Amino acid sequence: MFSSLRTFLSKIIKCHSEVDFLQIDENQNEELDDDELLNPMFRTSPRSSLAEELAVKPCHFDYLKIIGKGSFGKVLLARHRETNKYYAVKVLQKKIILKKKEQKHIMAERSVLMKNIKHPFLVGLHYSFQTTDKLYFVLDYVNGGELFYHLQRERVFLEPRARFYAAEIASALGYLHSLHIVYRDLKPENILLDSAGHIVLTDFGLCKEGLTPTGTTTTFCGTPEYLAPEVLQKQAYDRTVDWWCLGSVLYEMLYGLPPFYSRNTAEMYNNILNKPLILKPNVSNAGRELLEGLLQKDCTKRLGVKDDFMELKCHAFFSPINWDDLMARKVTPPYVPSVTGPTDLRHFDPEFTHLPVTSSLCNTDGLMVTSSIREAAGAFPGFSYGPADGFL
Ligand code: AMP
Repeated sequence: MFSSLRTFLSKIIKCHSEVDFLQIDENQNEELDDDELLNPMFRTSPRSSLAEELAVKPCHFDYLKIIGKGSFGKVLLARHRETNKYYAVKVLQKKIILKKKEQKHIMAERSVLMKNIKHPFLVGLHYSFQTTDKLYFVLDYVNGGELFYHLQRERVFLEPRARFYAAEIASALGYLHSLHIVYRDLKPENILLDSAGHIVLTDFGLCKEGLTPTGTTTTFCGTPEYLAPEVLQKQAYDRTVDWWCLGSVLYEMLYGLPPFYSRNTAEMYNNILNKPLILKPNVSNAGRELLEGLLQKDCTKRLGVKDDFMELKCHAFFSPINWDDLMARKVTPPYVPSVTGPTDLRHFDPEFTHLPVTSSLCNTDGLMVTSSIREAAGAFPGFSYGPADGFL
């Protein structure tokens, strides 16, 4: 049984190792031993079939509101009918994924979510399942709003607040790196606050339209503010891209705009690639020094190139941080989003929450089986995932 499980896992892992914006170290994963295979964090095949057998279905949830939108579908606030627990359910249209040839990225996101459900600042995946035409991710529901929703309201954060968020993000990125995963695409909309005010990173590998240069190197869809020079230039990249992105987030928190910002996108690309970093003196010396280290265009000289997260941990800017307390969520967040309960959606964009929730999420019985739906139906084998002992 274990050898077939091993074969199945290595197939999935091989597939994931080809994913270019979630770099998963192939060698590391191929060396999984039987203990690791038995670890629930690594199990895929038995859980898949179990979830399919137990038939977790879209109808097990009430879909209450749309809370966000990505390139392939929506994110909804949903309540599990039996347990009354709230989740964020990401629903993706298979045919859109297939049209954009993004199956691998979607499967990579699922794989990463499964591996990382245990980190305090990474969103947890409870279930994934599929119907003929849609994929579903059942995630922790995080309702403190996007970090940048709060930043826009306040324009800048004071240094201690920016330090707290940067430290929590850095520890999540360091953890991913320890699993040989590069996040690569840290974006404002992927950084959420939970109701206590802690960071939660979402979206592990879902391709955003902004990622692949289409046509000329300056034609990206979406906003590329945080893309590292080597990613913009389509060069080989490594985990240091994430430290560039962290530098961009920290810069925006302290100065109110992304580094190298221009309203003209082509000019912004050019600035990222060529313009020297200019740091105004309204940030402390330690803060500016850290930004210079992280926003180093040459990734071989960037802070973190030698010892990764350890180098950041030791930096003077983070000296007030007790990292053990931070990891244990014992550091009191500098700001607590005011939410009265799970259905309080004040931190979500009304552009989404006012949209009607379609009944097709639950009801697929009357679906017309067209050839594209038939093709989509079998395109995500082994996608489903769930805990062996019922609903979490
Ligand atoms: P994504 O497709 O993952 O980028 O999600 C689109 C938007 O949905 C995000 O920008 C968030 O505002 C929202 N969102 C995603 N995941 C969650 C979650 N687990 N809890 C609450 N909101 C979420």
